[in-house]
Amino acid sequence: MKKALITGYRGQDGAYLSRFLLEKGYEVCGADIPGDAGAWRLRELGIEGRVREVALDLLDEPGICAALASVRPDEIYNFAAQSFVLTSFTRPVLTAEVNAVGVARLLEGVRKTCPQARFFQASTAELFGSVGSAQKNETTDFHPRSPYAVSKLYAHWLTVNYRQTQNIYACNGILFNHESPLRGEEFVTRKIASAAARIGRGLQEKVAVGNLDALRDWGYAREYVDAMWRVLQQPAADDYILATGEVHSVRDFIGTVFAAAGVGLEWKGAGLEEKGVDAATGRVRVEVSKEFYRPADVKELVGDAAKAKRVLGWEPKTKFEELARIMVEAELNRLDGKKVRL
Ligand code: GDP
Repeated sequence: MKKALITGYRGQDGAYLSRFLLEKGYEVCGADIPGDAGAWRLRELGIEGRVREVALDLLDEPGICAALASVRPDEIYNFAAQSFVLTSFTRPVLTAEVNAVGVARLLEGVRKTCPQARFFQASTAELFGSVGSAQKNETTDFHPRSPYAVSKLYAHWLTVNYRQTQNIYACNGILFNHESPLRGEEFVTRKIASAAARIGRGLQEKVAVGNLDALRDWGYAREYVDAMWRVLQQPAADDYILATGEVHSVRDFIGTVFAAAGVGLEWKGAGLEEKGVDAATGRVRVEVSKEFYRPADVKELVGDAAKAKRVLGWEPKTKFEELARIMVEAELNRLDGKKVRL
């Protein structure tokens, strides 16, 4: 039986990957800081109690070594992070400690205690920043635009470096936005899906958002964890873009999600005065607030996952409209106390 250690296993990707690996017959060890933040995800997936819990804090190097030495994993997936871009502008030091130096601590732990283990780093499309608008691939230059992206850039290159200099099987998945009903509520897709369902049901009047013009490549997280596993099954370690290749604006996402919740929106005004108005009733359902703007946002992110298709045999199947529908249906089911399809 193969053994996997997943850091941040109570987050969206960690929870999906836990289920995926349990179904493959792995022993799954979930590493996280103590507490039960995110435990609801394991409950909704029906895998609560099936993941062996290991206390692990990316700020604590001796603790990391002890955890790795006790688990002796075959595969390590690192999802533990301060993962919210906006927060990184107000907590840059914490973001660097966890996302950057934390990965150094983890890779040192691997080198010292389990150098045969295969290591997957959740790298990010945010590395690319706003330079150029063409589809990004594995050879595109990085221009990070947030403390989050800068911290992840260090982790990305350190992962490459341990592969090159320490003979560790270490890989980066350069993940474009991947969403699901298990996303945290602070991320735009889940925030909108939740608000649209509540507004559709008459439980909420409106929602405030930030930059409507941001363009993103949104895939379905459930499918991305399959790709991450494939990354670690190859004869040689390497880095891969994981993306759908489709791009839509935040405004489009909102319109599609609200339509799926039974609310047809019309857009009126511009800039901070732009509003999404219910076409049937004239009531304002979406407004723009400075609070959700970032000091620097990435204008457009779209990825070219041709290498993942060619080498890993992976291709995302769930695209924008279907993803929006899945997310709204999940929120409506939650409101109705029904089981969520995940
Ligand atoms: P990220 O790409 O990992 O930062 O994922 P997010 O879901 O947090 O943000 C995706 C894009 O949506 C970014 O360009 C944000 O600026 C934009 N956005 C617009 N309104 C909002 C909002 O209300 N919340 C969040 N989180 N993002 C928003």
